[in-house]
Amino acid sequence: MMQVYRLAALSDNYIFILVDEASRSVAVVDAGDAVVVLNFLKDQNLSLSMILNTHYDGDHVAGNRRLLQAFPGIPVYGNAIDRGRIPGQTVFLNDGDRVQVGDSVGRVLAVPGHRHGHLAYYFEASADLFCGDVIFSAGSGRIKDCTPEQMQQSLAKLRSLPDATKIWCAHEYTLDNLRFALTIDPDNLELQSRMLEVKELRSRSQPTIPTIMGFEKRTNPFLRWDAEAIRSRLGTTGDVETYTEVRSRKNQF
Ligand code: FE
Repeated sequence: MMQVYRLAALSDNYIFILVDEASRSVAVVDAGDAVVVLNFLKDQNLSLSMILNTHYDGDHVAGNRRLLQAFPGIPVYGNAIDRGRIPGQTVFLNDGDRVQVGDSVGRVLAVPGHRHGHLAYYFEASADLFCGDVIFSAGSGRIKDCTPEQMQQSLAKLRSLPDATKIWCAHEYTLDNLRFALTIDPDNLELQSRMLEVKELRSRSQPTIPTIMGFEKRTNPFLRWDAEAIRSRLGTTGDVETYTEVRSRKNQF
């Protein structure tokens, strides 16, 4: 079975360490800070087997070179279209490819929207999704070099995964996201109670990640373009139109 460890890094990032218990294979997802990763590996007496990158923004790849110095020759995975942008990249992935951490198999999902080359890694057997800056708890990443249509399609692709999927997103933005979400969907009782839970967790500096897909489908305004309550509040009709209106309101929030 694959174990996931969540490391807090930089101001509000999470770095994930995946350990396949049987083989002791170890992957890091988005090593934004090498020191955080190296300290963890040393404490746990683990050796790094590979680096998986979701996209090339600095807070996701800045530790690659330093980790390669500590573990020379390990493979560095990223989107084929990010060739030249991800430091140390050696494996050039496309949608539908597979990655393996020991015996744990992850499916590569192309999810353009935040970045054109953004990837998610989905480990079906353990129901773990590493989706970088595409879905956050109660939120979603900004559109940087893509269209709203692309982002909405990527969100739809991830939303089609099973409800039990654990969403390991790359940032602790949940409290701010919930403040915004309640302006879009104020009568949502689950959203209201999530706010109470998250306020309490964050007052003790506790993480709100992972979140669960089924819950996000019912509460995250960026995944609810077809919810009548939201459409009527925003005065929108289509899926992309509704998503785009939520996005633009969040940009101004
Ligand atoms: Fe980021």
